[in-house]
This record gives sequence, structure tokens and C-alpha cells, in this order.
Amino acid sequence: MLVIEGTRMSDGISFGAIYFLKNKPATIEHKKISDIEKELVRFEAAHETACLQLEDLYKETKETLGEENASIFDIHKLMLKDIDYIESITNIIKNQAANAEYAIAVTAKNFSEIFSCMDDDYMKERAIDVKDISERIQKALNPEHYKPIEINAPSIIIADDITPGEIVGFEKSMILGIATVKGGATSHTAILARSQAIPAAFGMQGIGEELDGKFAVLDGFSGKLYIDPDEATKKEMKARVDENCKKRELLSQLKGLPTITADGRKINLYANINHISDIDEAVNNDAEGIGLFRSEFLYLDRKSAPSEEEQFIAYKKAAERMGGKKTIIRTLDIGADKQVDYFNLPNEENPAMGLRAIRICLTKPEIFKTQLRALYRASAFGNIAVMIPMIISVQEVEEVLRIVKEVKSDLRSEKIPFDEKTEFGIMVETPAAVMISETLAKMVDFFSIGTNDLTQYTLAADRQNSSISSFYDAKHPAVLKMIELTVKSARDAGIWVGICGEIAADLELTETFLKLGVDELSVSPRMILPIREKVMLF
Ligand code: PEP
Ligand code: MG
Repeated sequence: MLVIEGTRMSDGISFGAIYFLKNKPATIEHKKISDIEKELVRFEAAHETACLQLEDLYKETKETLGEENASIFDIHKLMLKDIDYIESITNIIKNQAANAEYAIAVTAKNFSEIFSCMDDDYMKERAIDVKDISERIQKALNPEHYKPIEINAPSIIIADDITPGEIVGFEKSMILGIATVKGGATSHTAILARSQAIPAAFGMQGIGEELDGKFAVLDGFSGKLYIDPDEATKKEMKARVDENCKKRELLSQLKGLPTITADGRKINLYANINHISDIDEAVNNDAEGIGLFRSEFLYLDRKSAPSEEEQFIAYKKAAERMGGKKTIIRTLDIGADKQVDYFNLPNEENPAMGLRAIRICLTKPEIFKTQLRALYRASAFGNIAVMIPMIISVQEVEEVLRIVKEVKSDLRSEKIPFDEKTEFGIMVETPAAVMISETLAKMVDFFSIGTNDLTQYTLAADRQNSSISSFYDAKHPAVLKMIELTVKSARDAGIWVGICGEIAADLELTETFLKLGVDELSVSPRMILPIREKVMLF
């Protein structure tokens, strides 16, 4: 038996075969070719395959999602057939005796740079389309290098790193557990794993392809991966699984009870979710509302931003499914570890401190307005609240409020119903927001403290970097002081305040939060009942 030790990321124990996830295909090399004619034929065949694929995609999408959603594939086909684009590729093959892969990569880079520099926003967005069509031909040239990741049997996935986008793309029932070298306890991969009750660990030095297919047990409580476990280990782990089941059964008796302290104070115990499909888990665990719906997951693992209609349907569904209970939807928090190609954002040295969340929304008002329209439209169907991430200044909140006003006024003149009383709040997740919280509290209806980011920005410790995880301490007195300050500002202004960072689920801190005067805790669904028990004993 081999034991690999890492760090706890998501609780639970799973048994199963290992699936080694290979990271992205290798970079494309410039190769000299001897037979130019043959290379041109290779390119033409791949180009033809790509065109046929786009025709099929257009037809299928039109039938299932309508003409508007399908039109992108028509545009891609036109771009694929563009004479200048084709000539650029064939000229590089002919003049430089280059392989088709290289010619396509150079052309894609040149063309997307040209589009990116255009003034017109529509043309700017074509840059990502050029990359997309080029990748389609690359895949047709070498399908074996671009096999879609298909996990055909339930497995414990091991990898150097797994992005949130990759997890979203996997069939949920196929993921028994996750063990990675890189990552962090509050990375979005960890958060996704926790919200889907998938045992996970990171910091697993020494995992690699040679483990593929081996039987293993992953202990997410201790962050250990047992390869070819011996009988005693298997028995011990099975006993722990049974014990956990019993604990959960006992806790399930708390379902339906209100979350009230012994001296009668009501605490709102809400769930953090990333997808509409997580609502079932929240409802099954008796969440009293949704405290954080990370809407950016609607934007991941796709080729273009979701339309207003698509978002409206999703938010409406969430509100209806929660049946009148508060459903706090956070506006797009893309950037840092959650990247989407189609925004075509520059590569950054320090993405967590770069263009992310509200900073992107305020530089792309059309994207932001689309989301706000969808949110306010959905507010007519339930108890939706809108929450803005990554605020650092009064000016940002003023600007957002101005846009919200515009959106509401448009809806009014279009006679589209929405709830005029929709609550509007911000996340307090930067030290700047904490320090000016007294002023911010007078501008909004509520605060939700995002300790995952607040910890990384307060302690200058990257939440994604497994090698400095010892510096990332959400219980550091400086972070607790930040929470205290924020709660005080909220109370003085008479607004409610909650915590939605992962620390909200730390049972050792429940009492501290209650003493500070926190009104709401929003946690992964599985932590609702353990916290209710703790609150009831306070
Ligand atoms: C946080 O930063 O604490 C938070 C809840 O937001 P996210 O984890 O999505 O950054
Ligand atoms: Mg955050």
C-alpha cells in the first residue's frame, strides 16, 4: 500500500479506481515538411471536417435552443471560409514549408490580434471566434490530441490541477473524489467539490500517470490517498463511512426546525450554491435560503456569454425552486481562477489582484446590464436579492447603483414586471471595503462578508497557492478583526450582515460569529444541519 499525504479540501471518503487527468495538449511546434502538396491536402481535409461539424452544430442548436443561439455557428462557418484566413494558412505552408498545425496557430494569433485592436466592440469579440475556429481545425487535424475528456466509470480523479471549468464539464456521477497537486482550501475547485459533496484533497506531491487505473481510497477528512489499500485500511475507512452516515442521520432530525439560539435569537442559515442543480442539495439539507449563488458558473465551459433570456430562465428557476425564501444571486465574479476565453481578457501576472468581478462588469457594461436585466426580471417570480462582488470603493457602488437604476427604468418603460423592493447588497471581501464599511453600509441593504478573498487580501496569501497554505489562515486575528469592524458598521447603519466565505462553516467559530452579532451564515449545503445544531446550543 502506498499512502500519499496532502491537505484536506472537501470532507468525505471515497473508494474507487483512479483516473489520471492529463493537462492541456502540448504546444504546437514549427516543423519543416518535405511534401508541401500533401500538407495542403491535410489542411483542406481538416478544414472540410470543421465546416461539416459547424453545419451539424448549427442544425442541432437551432432545433434545441432556437435560431438566435445557433447563429454563432453560422458566423463561425463564414469565418472559416474567409479567403484571407485560408490564404494566410496556405501561404505559410507553401512559403515556409511549415506544418499545417503551425500555419493555423500563427494565422489564428495574427487574425485575433487584428480583431482585438479594432475599435468596434462587435469586431473585438470576433478575436475569440478566430481562436475557436482555428482550434476546431487543429482538432480535426489531430483528433487523438484533443480527445474530449470522457470519464466512463465513476473514478477518483487525480491531476496536477483541475480548473472549475473542467469540473463543470464532467458528468457529476463519474467523480468519486478529487486529488490534485495544486490548489487551495478556498479555491473554487475546492468550493465546487464541497458543494457537490465530493471528497477532495490537494497538495498531493507524487501523484502521476503511473497511478492510473489503480484502486484507491481517498480520505477527504485527512487529505490522504491510499493506493492499493490493505485490508485493515479498507476496514477502517468503511467503518468511518458508516459512522458518518449515522451522524448525518442524527442531524437530519433537525430538519424543519428554526435556527434559533437558546436565548431566542434567529439566525438565517443559508446555502452557497454554484449551479441551479445544487438547489436540490440545499433544499434537502433544509437551507432557509440561498446566501450566495455564484452566477459566474453559468458563464464557464462555453463559447459565449449566456443571453439575457438564458440567465432569466436560470434565475427564475432558482427563485421559484426556493419558493419565496431569500435567493441572493451574486453578479458575475469572473477572473482569477475562473477564466472564460470569450471575454478575451489579457493574461495577468497577478490575476487575483487584476481585472476580475465588478471591475470587468464596469468595463463591459453591456454584459453587466444583460445580467442585471435578467436578475430584476426574475425578481418578479420569487425573493431574489442582488449582490455585487469585489467592491473597493464608494464610486464603484455609486456606478453600479446608477446602472441598476437605468435597468429598472428600462424595465418599467418596457412594462416588464420586477420586484421594486429587491434587496441590493455587496460582498465585503477586500480590506478596502472593510475600512470604508461605515460609508458603504449607508448605500446598500446588506453586507455579506467574503472571507475567502478577505483572507487572501488581508494576509497577502494567494488562496490558490498550495505551497503557502500555512500563511493562508482565515482565523488570523487580523481577519477576525476585519469581520468585527464590518459587523459593527452594518449594525450601526441598521442593515443586516452575513458571512458567506468558507469560514462561515467553521464550527469552532460559530459562537464567535453569534457574539459579534452576525445575522446570517451561508455555507455549503452539507454544513447547514451541523451549524443549526451549534446555534441551537448557544
Ligand atoms: C469569498 O471570497 O469569500 C466568497 C464567498 O466568494 P468566492 O469564494 O466566490 O470568491
Ligand atoms: Mg470572493
